[in-house]
Amino acid sequence: MSHPDAIKSVVILGGGTAGWMAAATLAHVLDANRLSVTLIESEQIGTVGVGEATIPPILLFNQMLGIDENAFIRETKATFKLGIEFVNWGGLGESYIHPFGDFATDVETLPMHHHWLRAKASGYNRDLFDFSLMVQACRRNRFVHPVKNNPRSVLAGVHYAYQFDAGLYAAYLRNYAEQRGVKRVEGRVETVSQHPETGHVEALQLDNGQQVSGEFFIDCSGFRGLLIEQTLKAGYENWSGWLPVDRAIAVPCEKTGPVIPYTRSTARDAGWQWRIPLQHRTGNGHVYCSEFVSDDEAQEALMRSLDGAPTADPKRLRFQTGHRRKFFDKNGNFKTGKSVQFTAEM
Ligand SMILES: Cc1cc2nc3c(=O)[nH]c(=O)nc-3n(C[C@H](O)[C@H](O)[C@H](O)COP(=O)(O)OP(=O)(O)OC[C@H]3O[C@@H](n4cnc5c(N)ncnc54)[C@H](O)[C@@H]3O)c2cc1C
Repeated sequence: MSHPDAIKSVVILGGGTAGWMAAATLAHVLDANRLSVTLIESEQIGTVGVGEATIPPILLFNQMLGIDENAFIRETKATFKLGIEFVNWGGLGESYIHPFGDFATDVETLPMHHHWLRAKASGYNRDLFDFSLMVQACRRNRFVHPVKNNPRSVLAGVHYAYQFDAGLYAAYLRNYAEQRGVKRVEGRVETVSQHPETGHVEALQLDNGQQVSGEFFIDCSGFRGLLIEQTLKAGYENWSGWLPVDRAIAVPCEKTGPVIPYTRSTARDAGWQWRIPLQHRTGNGHVYCSEFVSDDEAQEALMRSLDGAPTADPKRLRFQTGHRRKFFDKNGNFKTGKSVQFTAEM
């Protein structure tokens, strides 16, 4: 039975990865007959187009939605990812692979690295990475799924993620969400109406004259934070003192050679370069600190080190490292002032 204060309409602003992940989740978890979900996006603004290398929790998300892995891999041109190779981070010419998953299996209930550390203290000199199945698979360009039903299997400790085309992932989730009743509205939000007393967002006005009202708003408008920051001024925790990179240039290039099951991160003079192998292309980017390198120099360094011919113009991004101070602000049932209630499908 529906709670009398249950929210009946949710509006998501933004149709990048974040927006369509939120829409797909709500469509899957909540009862579409009692909750309307509307997503507004602007083709003119587009999406940031990065965010293609993931970490293992993405599997939980896809599984929660009941997504078939084979279909997902086919549709998003995804590849399997067993870890990240860090090149030149410790020193020029050095590299190591940070693997997902465990190092070997536990020995007498203790994780294996304790035994390795003890042996090392007595002169044992085998590299710890020799004991990672994921590192060995990466070096040999192999992949294997984990074995779930036998904890003693060496394959029980395999963890993996995906590398995928972020645009195709958003499109895949859009299809998923629309099939489950999410309504998409095309247009650019120009003004935001707030409740005169509480300041809660009440409606969004689009450039085509349309107005979209709702009871609960999710801001997925990307860096600009149109609702959470530009409207509500919820605050941003600036991390640039610790992580001073503030620019990035992204460019895809032609795929050359076999697909490898890991992302590569190569240290550069004022940041790092990423390389993400997909089925149909390789994603590349250079993240850097503009205090130490100019945009043109950063772009030149990136373009010089591509594996294949670029397949699009380089895209320049500006950002500030950190996070929003509040992830939730002035939202929910502003009429009653009562806490947020959704009606889950039972
Ligand atoms: C350099 C860099 C590298 C990254 N690499 C990774 C990575 O490897 N893996 C990873 O998981 N994450 C990565 N991220 C993070 C990841 O890119 C982002 O978290 C994610 O892609 C952002 O998606 P989004 O949906 O929040 O924003 P966006 O893709 O920017 O989407 C914003 C949406 O809002 C809409 N919008 C904005 N304003 C309006 C308006 N006024 N009216 C209507 N619609 C509007 C746009 O049209 C768009 O649909 C990276 C980020 C950066 C900066």
